[in-house]
This record gives sequence, C-alpha cells and structure tokens, in this order.
Amino acid sequence: MLSVLDMFRVGVGPSSSHTVGPMRIALRFRRTLEALALPPGARLLITLQGSLAFTGHGHGTPRAVVMGLMGHAPETFDVVSAERDLAALVASGQLLPGLGFDPAADIALDFDTRELLHPNAMRLEVLLGPMALHGEDWFSTGGGFIASRRQLDADAPADRVQAGHDVPHPFGSAAELLALAERLGQPLDAVVLANEDAIRPRVETLAGLDHVAAVMLACIQRGLETHGILPGGLKVERRAPLLWQQLQQGRSENEPERLFDWLNVYAMAVNEENAAGGQVVTAPTNGAAGILPAVMRHYCETDDQRRRFLLTAGAIGLLYKQRASISGAEMGCQGEVGVACSMAAAGLAAVWNGSPVQVANAAEIGMEHNLGLTCDPVGGLVQIPCIERNAIGAVKAANAARLALHRPGHGRVSLDQVIETMRQTGIDMSHKYKETSQGGLAVNVVEC
Ligand code: SF4
Repeated sequence: MLSVLDMFRVGVGPSSSHTVGPMRIALRFRRTLEALALPPGARLLITLQGSLAFTGHGHGTPRAVVMGLMGHAPETFDVVSAERDLAALVASGQLLPGLGFDPAADIALDFDTRELLHPNAMRLEVLLGPMALHGEDWFSTGGGFIASRRQLDADAPADRVQAGHDVPHPFGSAAELLALAERLGQPLDAVVLANEDAIRPRVETLAGLDHVAAVMLACIQRGLETHGILPGGLKVERRAPLLWQQLQQGRSENEPERLFDWLNVYAMAVNEENAAGGQVVTAPTNGAAGILPAVMRHYCETDDQRRRFLLTAGAIGLLYKQRASISGAEMGCQGEVGVACSMAAAGLAAVWNGSPVQVANAAEIGMEHNLGLTCDPVGGLVQIPCIERNAIGAVKAANAARLALHRPGHGRVSLDQVIETMRQTGIDMSHKYKETSQGGLAVNVVEC
C-alpha cells in the first residue's frame, strides 16, 4: 500500500502533474548526472511531450524543470535562491561542470508524440553532438507522483501504484476496505492509521498529518489576505480577499444562507495561491487543492477532527490512485476536482460520525455527480475554470456528506462502481478535454 501521506504532498503551484512532478523528475535526473563522467562539450536536452507540451507553458513546466535541474525540490522551494541560481545558470550556460544547458533553448515541446504509457511524458538526454550519451524517459502521473518508463513497462503498464509498503490491512477496493472495517469493528480512519503504524511510528504519522493541515490552513490565510492580478496574462483578479472582507462584516459563520460563501472563499483562496505559484498541498492534485482545505477549515475545529478528516479522505484517494488515476491528462477534471470532492465528502462524513458504509456512500456521491467533468483550462493556466470549480467542489462535497448521512445502508451505486465508471469515462474522453487546452472553454473563451 501507499501511505495516505503520499496523497498530500507539500509543493508549489500551479500544477502537481505539470509543476511538482516534472520538478521531481528533473531533480532525480540531476542526481544521476552528478554521478556520470561527462566528456567536455556534453549538452543537456529536455523534451516535453503530450499534455506537458500542450499546457506546459501555462502550467509553468519548463521553469519547474529548470528548477529541479538546478537542485530545487517542491517541498523546500525557495523563490529567492531559485532566482539567484537561475541567473547564474543563464550567465554560465553550464548546469554542471562541462555540461551545457540553456534554459531558453534546450527545453523542446513535442506536440506530435503520443505516449501510450501516460500522456505526461518527458525525455531527458545528454548529447555529445548528435550522439546520445545517456537518456531517460519519465512520466508525471498526477498528484506529484512520478514513474520511469522502466517502472511502467515492467510492473504496471497501465500506470498503477509503483511502490508500496507491507501493511497489516491492505485493501485494493472499497469493498475490501469496508470488509476490513466491519471485521475489525473500526472506522475507516482507524484501519488506515493501523496501516500507517507499519510504515513509521504513530507519533510521526500524526505529526505529518498536523503538518499537512497546517500548510493547508496557512495557504488559505495567505490567499485571504493577498490582493492582485494572477500571473499568466488572463488578467484574472483574485476574488477571495474581497469576499473575505465582506464575510468579516457579517453576523456569524453559521448563517445558513452564507454557508456557500464560507466554503467558496476558502477554496478560492487556496486556488488563487496555487495559480500564483504559491505553496499548496496536493489534495490529491494542485488543480484541485482547494476543496479539502476549504471543507476542513469550515468543519474541523480540533486536531483530532482534522486527522480523522485527512486519514479518511486519504484512504479514498488511495482507492482512486490504485484503481484508476488522479491525473487530469488521463481522466479529465473528474480525476482531479471529482476525486477531491469524493475525498472531502468522505472525510466530512467521518467527522460527522457517519458509519463506514455512510462514509463510502459520501465518497460515491461526491464522484457520481462529477462524472464526465472535462479539463479545458483557458490559456493553459490553472485559473479558469479551476478556481471556481474548487469552490463548487467544496460545496458539493458538503452536500454529498449530508445526503450520505440521511441513508443508513448501501446505495444502489457502490464506490467501486463509480471509480470504475470514472476510469472508463476518462479512457473514452477525447484528448481535447484532458489537460491539453485543445477543446471546451479553452477554445471558446478569448484570451485577452
Ligand atoms: S480544469 Fe480541472 S483538471 Fe484541468 S487544470 Fe483545472 S482543476 Fe486541473
């Protein structure tokens, strides 16, 4: 099993698959380069393929690759030192002693190659003249996860989980997870926590969950307080700060008619920070990073509630990762915002003391009404429709949890059935609607 903490990675915006993943790949490649004996005159060439080429510039992929090649990691990214290193690289034209690299010229976009293993493909090569000295193919498989061609070819041709841990309660489906909960007489978060105990000491898991929650809440706060126009050229203005100010003048957070406003403002705060390249937590991706924090901030008041929320949501996220995909380039937005909505609905149902069956029902409802959701970001930026879509997703998650709690037993549609339906729908969806900005809003909204 993967750890639930693998579903929540601290990184930088605007995209987990197009920023965080490529930065991690590039950083790994740098480590390989450092161990190679390279002859004088060697040169580095990076080729972005598929969705990474189509929406790479809007999602900041070339810049993320350069940052990774210079040794920066998403978790510890510091913009000041990154800019200093970039200036030095541009001035010297050398990534490492003897290895030439020009960030402006040596990152190519390949719009023609369609990789069957995964649409987010990267080729990294060291060349000496026309001769390739060393080359690797990597894939950014969504949510900041990465895999090499060797891994995907040998172990998991359809891009499923690449590595894992031995745990006492492994599960490969929602049915198995529910059966475990029933046999153990435990809620889902307790089952998952027992698995985490096999990976690291309990105290470290709890600290990890608390850190994830703290980064999420800090991201909301920055987004609530930061005014301005988002980068990228669409001239999208941040809306969260103004709505936040209006809400501060209101009566109480519990006014029923303003429930949507609270969820909206928290979700938009995160996604505006994400669009600006700020620090966010993948949940399960950057594009969908606002939904879980919004629901958590509004409904969870204690550390215990936040841990329960994240453990339960993480367990549901693992099911999507194992049985389908959380990559917008593979599944469309149903694999990002849809999955986040499903995870948040489950987490909230757990915090509201729903039974394991009700929690699974909440997750099912959260996805069922996102099936078919396309990915068509205007200008290749993670702004329109992404920011509002997270606000809608947060509200939908709360409603899914409410609906689930009013139904005691199993629904007509199981969580496994809806995950499989999402997977099949994603496979059938035209590539125009899978993070390529070749269809939908991306071609019908004028960029100006
Ligand atoms: S439309 Fe959805 S999947 Fe596509 S970039 Fe935006 S949030 Fe991500």
